[in-house]
Amino acid sequence: AIDFKWIRDNKDAVAANIRARNSNANLQLVLELYDNMLNLQKVRLQEVERLRAERNVVANKMKAKLESSERQKLIEEGKNLKDVLVSLEEDLLKLTDELQQEAQCVPNMTHPDAPVGGEDCSTVRKVVGKPREFGFAIKDHVQLGKDLDIIDFDAASEVSGSKFYYLKNEAVLLEMGLVNWAVSEAMKRGFTPLTTPEIVRSSIVEKCGFQPRGNNTQVYSIVGSDQCLIGTAEIPVGGIHMDSILAEASLPLKYVAFSHCFRTEAGAAGTATRGLYRVHQFSKVEMFVLCRPEESDSFHEELISIEEDLFSSLGLHFNTLDMATEDLGAPAYRKFDVEAWMPGLGRYGEISSASNCTDYQSRRLGIRYRPGLSTPSKKGKGSSGVTQFVHTLNATACAVPRMLVCLLENYQQEDGTVIVPEPLRPFVGGLEVIDYK
Ligand code: AMP
Repeated sequence: AIDFKWIRDNKDAVAANIRARNSNANLQLVLELYDNMLNLQKVRLQEVERLRAERNVVANKMKAKLESSERQKLIEEGKNLKDVLVSLEEDLLKLTDELQQEAQCVPNMTHPDAPVGGEDCSTVRKVVGKPREFGFAIKDHVQLGKDLDIIDFDAASEVSGSKFYYLKNEAVLLEMGLVNWAVSEAMKRGFTPLTTPEIVRSSIVEKCGFQPRGNNTQVYSIVGSDQCLIGTAEIPVGGIHMDSILAEASLPLKYVAFSHCFRTEAGAAGTATRGLYRVHQFSKVEMFVLCRPEESDSFHEELISIEEDLFSSLGLHFNTLDMATEDLGAPAYRKFDVEAWMPGLGRYGEISSASNCTDYQSRRLGIRYRPGLSTPSKKGKGSSGVTQFVHTLNATACAVPRMLVCLLENYQQEDGTVIVPEPLRPFVGGLEVIDYK
């Protein structure tokens, strides 16, 4: 339920927000369509009234003894009135659909403290550690992966295409170990673990604020169906509670979900793509929170501090950024990214992202709660009293490929072997060093 009225009543603020976020949403069109819809709703109401009155007249006349031709005429009149109404309903449905489509593109409002501008305007919130000094010539993860026989890009490029990879030997243990480690760490902090469907309906993708169609879509669609491959577990997790009224007592709901993620990476030409950095398929552990609105800012802080704890415990050097308005995407009200040092690539690279989406996704997905309600119910049932939309937040606990980039490049030794950081060892069968075969 996008609040069209709110958009109209706050159109100046919405327009300024669209500009600050460099969004291509067409507010003017949304406002026009909304006006048209209100007008048509008014006309429909009048027509319903007219139909009721006429039907009464016709019904009364029908009670009298009538010639069959006259009776036929009255039946026709009744039918015509109904047809008018049916066609009005159809127009209204079409208009509402169009309005919905346009309004979907209006981005979330923005946290007042988010820096305004493009990528370069993002501000550093925190710096942890410093770049490691290597006393020898270092390799990047692509070279390390090849020399240690743990990553095969060549075969994957033959079998699947570019931006795919096989992991082999210890890299497989690392992938599974990283996933297990990240899920375990989140569970220790009260998150409920999930694995999710990796194919979802396009409508859910859309309701989460992603565009499943169009030239530049990041989403792979399945031909001949209305389904897509997920780009992130945020989508199926967001969908779990769709169209429901949650008990206030059940909030916050904190999930940690493992899934594969699939991305077309359309429009990524020219951005960093080497090796595992930008691939079409990857494993990711994602945290997702549903909470009361007044708590979402503090859960946002909690999520970013969990990420910082996890990456510090692995001994990585990273910066946490408060992302600027043009880099927020449509759903996020505020976003904190973590960029870690990748010595082989010779630069910082984003390894995770924590977003507060406020009620942007919950409005579209229909996830509400009723203050005071102690047991959940489906929409409509027992729905007296005021319900509110929950706030949703998502944050990466571990996106495997970029974590592999960081681990291989930061923990390489002069002889070309790679040390496994201590916290991961229990999750990789005690493995301490990745050695030549
Ligand atoms: P996002 O859901 O776009 O915020 O991405 C979450 C995290 O997934 C990013 O911080 C990256 O670590 C990782 N990631 C995103 N896209 C890719 C990709 N194409 N290849 C590898 N990792 C990715």
